Amino acid sequence: GQCVLVCPTGALGERDETDKVLDWIYDPEIVTVFQFAPAVRVAFGEEFGLPAGANVQGQIITALKQIGADIVLDTNFAADLVIMEESAELLKRLSAGKRPTFTSCCPAWINFAEIHYPEILPYLSSTKSPMQSMGVICKTYLPEKMGLDPKKVRTIAIMPCTAKKDEAARGQLKLETGDAEIDAVLTTREFARMLRREGVNIAKCEPSDFDNPYMSEFSGAGAIFGTTGGVMEAAVRTMYYVANGKEYDLIEFEQLRGFDGVRSATVDMGGSIGIVKVAMAHGLKPARELVEQVLAGKADFDFIEIMACPGGCVDGGGNLRSKKAYMPNAMKRRGTLYTVDRQQKVRQSHNNEQIKALYRDFLEKPYSDKAHHLLHTMYNDRKLDLKRTVKEIWDDLTISD
Ligand code: SF4
Repeated sequence: GQCVLVCPTGALGERDETDKVLDWIYDPEIVTVFQFAPAVRVAFGEEFGLPAGANVQGQIITALKQIGADIVLDTNFAADLVIMEESAELLKRLSAGKRPTFTSCCPAWINFAEIHYPEILPYLSSTKSPMQSMGVICKTYLPEKMGLDPKKVRTIAIMPCTAKKDEAARGQLKLETGDAEIDAVLTTREFARMLRREGVNIAKCEPSDFDNPYMSEFSGAGAIFGTTGGVMEAAVRTMYYVANGKEYDLIEFEQLRGFDGVRSATVDMGGSIGIVKVAMAHGLKPARELVEQVLAGKADFDFIEIMACPGGCVDGGGNLRSKKAYMPNAMKRRGTLYTVDRQQKVRQSHNNEQIKALYRDFLEKPYSDKAHHLLHTMYNDRKLDLKRTVKEIWDDLTISD
């Protein structure tokens, strides 16, 4: 028999899902839809001996096609979608005097808040993460556009993160049909193992482009989600546009880009919003400090970005670790994300043409009833989990033969 231990933080262990994914690939009835995270493309080359920070986006697309993936999409597209929803939510909360709002795209942070600081849960953005939002849209809008049977679609996410496996299994992240939004999560390491088993070497792949006409374009804002401060910067670009009807001149917000555990800044949004106070924490110790300040009424912020891994996803637990956020590898990966942003013709989520089409043809508008239903979630107080006895935990373990 096989005993599967369930880690309450989702941070421990890594159940290999490559066999399951390969079975789907080989099944002609199944349509496999892959996505990979912003940080994966700048960290994955290292698994195959390429220099740190090499951007292997095009090689990953080629490799996935070579092993038989049906559709390859970009989590960056969904990062743009999340920014549309999160900005609309944030502006609504601000106008109702609710502050601060915490970001919600890092599942290790969500687990930490649910288990250790349930009092903070009402302050968390309800917007699902890019990975989950992508899963929902892949099983609703994409089948509609492409004439697919949603029941035959399997969504597979390649992530720099072990906690993303636990996120995909959350009870509240299911479609109305009961189907999972995300069917499997492969960490960067698992994906490397899978390619090796299939005899594919990333370093030898010719790069190719995304070719899905509905869900693969991304803006520079979506690309920087993979580093600490990136979600904040992407959101500020879009909120500024919403408040002023024009783009912010200085598109790169240097004050958001440092590397201290906790950073804060004020951004003059002008228009109907005025001054917005923001903070960013990366690593759980700095996150804890910030949460305790907020709960003690000692922090004065509108929007707070939290990433559990020091440095953000560029140094996530599913990647080869560079151990410290400021170590050269993580810095190079981060540098490449900023270069991608600079090289994109479109640098704001709201200017992504495929995002505009998604709202026009399907979601109506950011934070519409439909968008709210599909792309927002809720959180649970799990502090009690901590008070359970060893016997209770033991009785609950999933044991399968
Ligand atoms: Fe995962 Fe770390 Fe990124 Fe959070 S910061 S989503 S735990 S890789």
